[in-house]
Amino acid sequence: MKRVAILGSTGSIGLQALDVARRHPEQIEVAALAVGSRAQALLGQVNEFHPEAVAIADECVADTVRDSLEGLGVHVLSGPSAAEDLVRHVKVDTILSAISGFSGLGPTLAAAASGADLALANKESVVCAGPLLLDEIARSGSSLVPVDSEHSAIFQCIHGDEGWVDRLVITASGGPFLDRALHSFDAVTPSQALAHPRWEMGAKISIDSATMMNKGLEIIEARWLFDMDFDLIDVVIHPESVVHSLVQLRDGSLKAHLGPTDMRYAIMYGFSHPERWQDPGYRDFRLAEQSLTFSDPDPERFPCLSIARAAGEEGGLLPTVLVSADEVAVRAFLDGDIRFPGIARVVEETLERASGAGMGGNPRREPEEILRADEWARKHARSIVAMHAVQ
Ligand code: NDP
Ligand code: MG
Repeated sequence: MKRVAILGSTGSIGLQALDVARRHPEQIEVAALAVGSRAQALLGQVNEFHPEAVAIADECVADTVRDSLEGLGVHVLSGPSAAEDLVRHVKVDTILSAISGFSGLGPTLAAAASGADLALANKESVVCAGPLLLDEIARSGSSLVPVDSEHSAIFQCIHGDEGWVDRLVITASGGPFLDRALHSFDAVTPSQALAHPRWEMGAKISIDSATMMNKGLEIIEARWLFDMDFDLIDVVIHPESVVHSLVQLRDGSLKAHLGPTDMRYAIMYGFSHPERWQDPGYRDFRLAEQSLTFSDPDPERFPCLSIARAAGEEGGLLPTVLVSADEVAVRAFLDGDIRFPGIARVVEETLERASGAGMGGNPRREPEEILRADEWARKHARSIVAMHAVQ
């Protein structure tokens, strides 16, 4: 039996993680849950899974949670650092880090330092603070298993061939606009961009998939998780999303990970590692019904891919600026303040300012420096959004 904490339990990954727990009652005990503000959803989860502690970031709804759980013996933490406090408070075997965006950084670092194994969905923490996160993992002696499907696939492909990997190949579905006429990108609406053809995900990552910024972040994530140079990390478009990613070995063989398009497999592996649990049959997967096609991404259609790669290569605080500027730009697009192609422009111009301000260079290991870069990037990205605002 593994005791687990789920950070971001009301989100897309969190809900699927609870479904994995529901289907594996012999293997998983849900000991702790952390959310942002959805109090009622959290209370429903407490009712079903009986965790010993919960965290809610939004103070405005914390009293509702406390009042509802009074007398039930559930420890309730609240406030902006509640998820970090929770990780320090409860003793668990595995922590699933699935808070969205830059807010996941602090809780992920606290989880890495706690000594519990880390099942990592929050890619932003690796992008912004890869070396720092890996230092914490090494210091605490815990293990890190990626939950992002491509990185879970690569992690599983490398197993048994450590030392012989020449190149990583990350697959990308291409999102909803793989075939859309380029001249019509200005007219893309938020609901069109949110409608991913293959994966059901939270809003932010769905927009990032439409721009392919998500894949750009994943290149940087892979650089740190697998200690691989940027020029040895390729991206290939594979619209069917059956091959979750590949590694190329020294002898030229390609080793791929295939499976249903269902995050619950990667989440389950994050919990079960180093074991494997019985296939729960989430999806009836018949190989004979699948087709596999591959193509190179079109740089004109997906400028975010090269913008992100360049930010990763320039290094220093630029990956943090990339993450934070993208969060501001995606929010602005969802709010109708900028058009879809404006997302790439806002991110690129914020990065140009950061580069001009000397923020590139060696990776930073000071959390305060990363937090300052986040604030800097948000401020500049907002001013650039205002310059590109839809009239
Ligand atoms: P969602 O937006 O669906 O969910 C985000 C979760 O984080 C919610 O539970 C939310 O709580 C919680 N949250 C937000 N802010 C805070 C905070 N300050 N403190 C505590 N909890 C907070 O996101 P996804 O599930 O889509 O993504 C989560 C992470 O996993 C992201 O980093 C994403 O890149 C990564 N990922 C997601 C995939 C997917 O298929 N969805 C695939 C691969 C990676 P509340 O509901 O109360 O607001
Ligand atoms: Mg992914």
